[in-house]
Amino acid sequence: MFCPECGATDVEMIDGICKNCFLKKFQLMEIPENITVTICKHCNAKLEVGKWKDEYIPEEEIIYRALERNITISDLAENEEIELEIDQMRGTIAECYVEAVATVLGEEVVETHTPNVKINYSVCPDCSKRNAGYYEAVIQLRADDRELEDEEIVIAEEIINRTLDKQFKKDKLAYIPQVAKLKEGNDYYIGSLKSAKKVVEHLKEEFGGTTKESPRLISEDKSTGKGLYRIWIALRLPKFVKDDFVKYNDGIYQINDVDGNRIQVINLENQDTIALKWREYDSIEKIEHLEGVQKAIVTSKSPNALQILDPDDYSPIDLEMTEKLEKINIGEEIDVIKIDGKIYII
Ligand SMILES: [Zn+2]
Ligand SMILES: [Zn+2]
Repeated sequence: MFCPECGATDVEMIDGICKNCFLKKFQLMEIPENITVTICKHCNAKLEVGKWKDEYIPEEEIIYRALERNITISDLAENEEIELEIDQMRGTIAECYVEAVATVLGEEVVETHTPNVKINYSVCPDCSKRNAGYYEAVIQLRADDRELEDEEIVIAEEIINRTLDKQFKKDKLAYIPQVAKLKEGNDYYIGSLKSAKKVVEHLKEEFGGTTKESPRLISEDKSTGKGLYRIWIALRLPKFVKDDFVKYNDGIYQINDVDGNRIQVINLENQDTIALKWREYDSIEKIEHLEGVQKAIVTSKSPNALQILDPDDYSPIDLEMTEKLEKINIGEEIDVIKIDGKIYII
């Protein structure tokens, strides 16, 4: 046997020629000279087969990934190591250097290429919507029968921002193009309905309250006849806040804590803490126009009762002994409130 290319005899033959001649012709890797990547100039999302994906990846990383994706290594290569470098940027073109080292038929082979990666800048649909101030939903933050408190707005906005930040990782329309401060409350415009619903869910967990959705037809797709809707979601925070006094089932209660699951109240008759369901909201009546908290002095104490003096006319009032009252001693002043002429300890 001899090699028809170089005439060498007694040598290992591959594909009809000697190993030396084979390795001389051998191509370790294939990579196009010019590679083009289309990315969104706002979010760096990459356009691939009609789909935008992988946003917020640094441009260098996009170039390296484009090189990697376009490299084909010969099946004969073993232990291959590939080094990628960006030599320089010329406008939107990255001049790159690719070096591959591998073992082929027991010999070390080194091969270098200098491909160009051209970046085409475009704008992805989500970013164009965002730039145009597009929104799918409006959250109307209100309070039932009262004005929102400043602190409620601060907490609500923290929840809104935190939720949208989190949502943004999977929903690029999780943004607020506009906030409208109105006399009756604040309107938060939200890019996507999905993220708006998430925000409302979290606000409700914190504050409780009731929600109402009203879709409004914005336009109609003439070809399909399908309507494009925007959804207004009104979140109405409860009429009462912590420490307010309420009437419920003929009893007098003080609001202790409110969240999305329940309304926790203290029964002023016996100081028991109970949790009311949200479906009972309408039967809870807020007591307005209170004269306020007064001080009353304790004049006597027995195992069954505590006697105090009415702060208005100093007439003695006997209160049934409870766990809370047991801790109070004669001569002490305690906070009381008068509701419908009756005195309650708070
Ligand atoms: Zn040969
Ligand atoms: Zn984008």
